[in-house]
Amino acid sequence: MSGSEPHLLEECPTTPTAGEVVEALTNIVGVDRVLTDAADRAPFESDWRGKYRGRCLAVVQPADTREVSKVVEFCARNAVPVVPQGGNTGLCAGATPDSSGSQIVLSLRRLRRLRAIDAEDGHMVCEAGMPLAEAQNHAEGVGLLLPLSIASEGTATIGGVVATNAGGVNVLHYGSARQLLLGLEAVLPDGTIVSRLAPLRKDNTGYDIVSLLAGSEGTLGIVTAATLALSPRPLGYTTFLAGLSDVGKARAALNHVRSIPGGVVTSWELFSAVSAELLMQLPQAMPLPLMERHAWYLLGEISHFGSDNGVLEALADVLAEHDMDDIIVAASGQQRADLWMIREAVSEAERAAGPTLKHDIAVTPARIGEFVEALLPACSSIDAAIRINVFGHVGDGNLHVNVLPRQEGRALTGEEQNRFSTCIYDLTHELGGSFSAEHGIGQQKLAQMVRYKSLAELNLMRTIKGSLDPHGLMNPGKVLP
Ligand SMILES: Cc1cc2nc3c(=O)[nH]c(=O)nc-3n(C[C@H](O)[C@H](O)[C@H](O)COP(=O)(O)OP(=O)(O)OC[C@H]3O[C@@H](n4cnc5c(N)ncnc54)[C@H](O)[C@@H]3O)c2cc1C
Repeated sequence: MSGSEPHLLEECPTTPTAGEVVEALTNIVGVDRVLTDAADRAPFESDWRGKYRGRCLAVVQPADTREVSKVVEFCARNAVPVVPQGGNTGLCAGATPDSSGSQIVLSLRRLRRLRAIDAEDGHMVCEAGMPLAEAQNHAEGVGLLLPLSIASEGTATIGGVVATNAGGVNVLHYGSARQLLLGLEAVLPDGTIVSRLAPLRKDNTGYDIVSLLAGSEGTLGIVTAATLALSPRPLGYTTFLAGLSDVGKARAALNHVRSIPGGVVTSWELFSAVSAELLMQLPQAMPLPLMERHAWYLLGEISHFGSDNGVLEALADVLAEHDMDDIIVAASGQQRADLWMIREAVSEAERAAGPTLKHDIAVTPARIGEFVEALLPACSSIDAAIRINVFGHVGDGNLHVNVLPRQEGRALTGEEQNRFSTCIYDLTHELGGSFSAEHGIGQQKLAQMVRYKSLAELNLMRTIKGSLDPHGLMNPGKVLP
């Protein structure tokens, strides 16, 4: 691990005024890179869903790691809280400032360089503000695959996906962001730059600092660059959409499909009849290319690294064995893209339908059928005038369970939200699951941290936070209750 010398923080003799803070930050990043006008700040002050809105002192846009370090060091010396932000697509409002007007939003989007890419060794070093899709394109340019894939990849940044340990549609085979992360460069809460970008597949030299910062949602430091592992590109894909009556069957079929020789199952995605309804309500209605309507839909993908001979026939047999007879298999790259477009439009279709109450749970894949069977009656018993949009990464045991009032435009009251969320999270907890599978905690799931996380784990997290950020200036009010 290399890096700058740790900074010794001195007490600031007097607290600077807002004007003095802006002036000092402008001296570091340049005149046009500190946004203070309300209209300029606005897009950085609310979350993707528009559910949370804050007010910051300024949005600061450094150009490189050195500037990030100087900004953070200034903030540490002068007790200015820092909220790191990438693409602002997070779903737990982790990048949204509070309403005090005292925090700065530190936008990483200008750190966008590809520092290195090595096709031989299979890795790339990207700066934090590079959009994920751009990183994928760079990997494709050298004939390789960056397998992290999420519907927000056009806007979500490398720093953001690392900081949230993002998951997505390929976790089943390739793992989430943390598993793809070989190295990292970060600025710690006192401004120290820590650099461990070496693309090592093995490095057992003490505490795993790279993994610690991954998923820390900007509360332990600022990610400025990341080394990511690349994989061989598949030679082809078998991608299908099937209708099914029971979620448990999706899981059972996965085990069988995995045993078909000639491919690797890389995605196993589920969505419900409610998702299909929402897709039809989009202005550009998206009908499903199947013969009939079903309670559930499964989008599966097998990646081929050699011959795909016989895979199609074996797949059809296995799916039929699990009562999936209504199937469409993509016959071209375009059809594959069309099937994926359906799956990826589900979040957007839900957003277009009005306010929803979202959950992002995981149970072990073996218990996913049991979870769904108990979920729907439990929620209906609270209030039958709702729709539950269930969709997600069923192969990983991760489902998004989102509650929408049937009456268009109506938002659930605070009390209703509490009742639904407690019901869904308690059920998840009883089955040994997690109340946040891939979206993180942000400021949205602090109550669940108290209710479901053990005190020993919480205290350990507080100890780590306290030792790295003793004044609590790095993304305050996020992750830790
Ligand atoms: C349509 C849609 C689909 C999505 N699908 C998925 C999905 O399938 N799987 C999934 O996991 N997520 C998904 N997400 C959520 C979101 O895209 C991810 O959480 C993503 O990783 C956030 O990246 P970002 O750059 O937008 O981060 P932001 O939203 O800007 O920030 C997210 C958190 O990371 C911190 N942060 C950001 N950049 C840095 C940095 N450089 N250093 C330190 N901390 C930082 C912020 O402070 C905040 O706490 C989806 C979102 C949308 C809108």
